[in-house]
Amino acid sequence: MPSGSEFIRQIKDQVEEIDPSEVNELTHEGVAIVDVRESEETESGLLPGAKHVPRGYLESRIEGVVPDRSTPVVIYCASGNRSVYAAKTLAELGYEDVVSMSGGFQAWKQNGHEWRVPRALSPEQFERYSRHVLIPEVGEEGQLKLLDSNVLLIGAGGLGSPAAVYLAAAGIGTLGIIDADIVDVSNLQRQIVHTVDRVGQPKVDSAETAIKAINPGVTVKKYAERLTSENVLDIIAGYDVIVDGTDNFPTRYLLNDATLVAGIPVVHGSIYQFEGSVTVYKPYEGPCYRCQYPEPPPPELAPSCAEGGVLGILPGVIGTLQATEAVKLVLGIGDPLVGRQLRYDALAMEFVELKMHRDPECPVCSKDPSEIEFIDYEQFCAMPSRAVARPEEAVA
Ligand SMILES: [Zn+2]
Repeated sequence: MPSGSEFIRQIKDQVEEIDPSEVNELTHEGVAIVDVRESEETESGLLPGAKHVPRGYLESRIEGVVPDRSTPVVIYCASGNRSVYAAKTLAELGYEDVVSMSGGFQAWKQNGHEWRVPRALSPEQFERYSRHVLIPEVGEEGQLKLLDSNVLLIGAGGLGSPAAVYLAAAGIGTLGIIDADIVDVSNLQRQIVHTVDRVGQPKVDSAETAIKAINPGVTVKKYAERLTSENVLDIIAGYDVIVDGTDNFPTRYLLNDATLVAGIPVVHGSIYQFEGSVTVYKPYEGPCYRCQYPEPPPPELAPSCAEGGVLGILPGVIGTLQATEAVKLVLGIGDPLVGRQLRYDALAMEFVELKMHRDPECPVCSKDPSEIEFIDYEQFCAMPSRAVARPEEAVA
């Protein structure tokens, strides 16, 4: 049996090492830098751009952090020994170009190279969000992104309810809620953010009570008003993602046009009876609402507002899908539903996906944002005619 130090030397013979100044020259060249120290050790600082994967989790998490095995990887630890073992492990996992930084973080600092002190979750946050932290695609860094994020909910109704509950639980830092309505008994069949004892309260207040009960750390911004061409840009400014759970067409059209100007992605959901759909309108990257529905229906074709029925559970499914898309957009992970519409049929228990394309003749997104004018479409009502729009475009 070789002695410990001799064993390290043998391993080092099999792994390429480069020194901190060589690593410093690589930091902008599409190289993945992986810190394999324990979490406590990284509190004092990390290399700029480094991903932290503690040695004990390397095998299970590296794919989430460096999915492409041909990406060049630089591994470091505190002094350059553990990183040699880690580099060997990665080579065995099929990573083609792995080097260890000699001397580790200590040598990096001694050489006067730049480093950053990571922001960290507080112990309470770490405990609350531990099931997020454990997912490589989220991790502590992702949870900090969620805590820094601002999401606006259009409507605290059927779709807004599950979205508000899950986004609050997920730790979205600021949740804006716009809704001018009062909680009514007939809402309770599906709008789970409200309760019997809050009937008669403004929906934004009732939603705030529910959100704070789940997660007091969330900042709630309330707008007990309707979106208009006058207030829309002021209200949506500063939000990273908008979850559209609105039940009326004027708001949908106005929101679409305003978010194109403001450059904010919208997670759109709609429901009718047993059917719902979800899509993401990402300004100028995919189709917008008006690529699909260029003009609002004329008032005479829009039936009364009170006609739409909906299975109470349906908005739970659709609103939860919307919350999922919002979290993905904040984190920048996965494939958002841009240019895709996911449709759900609760009776058939089927999901189908439709491709959607940008319309080069779209009345708004074919234009430059500076040319878009907002219109208050107050002349027509919430319920579309089946002849005018698709059946799921209805009550929320
Ligand atoms: Zn468009």
